[in-house]
Amino acid sequence: MSPSDPASPSHAASILTIDLAAVAANYRLLADRAAPARCAGVVKADAYGLGLAPVANALAAAGCETFFVALLEEGIALRELLPEATIMILNGLMAGEAPVFEAHRLVPVLNDLGQIEEWGAHCKSGTAQPATLQLDTGMSRLGMPPEEVERLAAEPDRLAGIALEGVMSHLACADEPNHPMNRRQLEDFMAARTRLPAATASLAASSGIFLGPEWHFDLVRPGVALYGVAPTRGESNPMTQVIRLKGKILQVR
Ligand SMILES: *Cc1c(COP(=O)(O)O)cnc(C)c1O
Repeated sequence: MSPSDPASPSHAASILTIDLAAVAANYRLLADRAAPARCAGVVKADAYGLGLAPVANALAAAGCETFFVALLEEGIALRELLPEATIMILNGLMAGEAPVFEAHRLVPVLNDLGQIEEWGAHCKSGTAQPATLQLDTGMSRLGMPPEEVERLAAEPDRLAGIALEGVMSHLACADEPNHPMNRRQLEDFMAARTRLPAATASLAASSGIFLGPEWHFDLVRPGVALYGVAPTRGESNPMTQVIRLKGKILQVR
């Protein structure tokens, strides 16, 4: 681009830079911390605003094989980029969407008995399809409340036809290592797992990885730390800076 081009960066009042090598370095640091657990990458909301395609490609090149997004449409876009990846849809499925999930090989995170019924009905009409169950152990955002887990434990046929691959939950206060919620959620998660069919387990997002190995289970799911945000409140940030904003100084007073 020539400097006379109106879109030339040299004319920009400010420039926002996303360092993809730093995203890859952060992925490797988190994956090392979590090993032998596997490390997924959370790229919902356009990879936290940094751009789904460049971020997902950088993570895949760094060794990431499992990705989480929130919405079906994000999963479809990601499938086009990464034909081999495991892609999980955190919001799960709405009525009538199951064939679209299967067509794009997207794994729904089932958040209530209604979503289990929807996916189960679809599976019964064909071959068993993979799914992950999300349990609400105190985050109070998404996932099955304890009463629904009890009903599912009492009526395991509700999962008939579903290839249950994972059980997950989300920590509410993991950025505060001494918060009593962390251990309470860990214990509730472990107790709920014993009531359900065997499946891999996932509890930690970015901050949970730094609570220690007890919280790692089989798979960790960092988002914000990949993008450079400090995982633990009040402690120095082990992540590499990803985002830089440079502005021209017009005058100094
Ligand atoms: C967003 C999200 C994550 C990633 O959380 P971070 O705090 O950004 O690491 C993990 N799991 C679930 C269920 C999420 O919704």
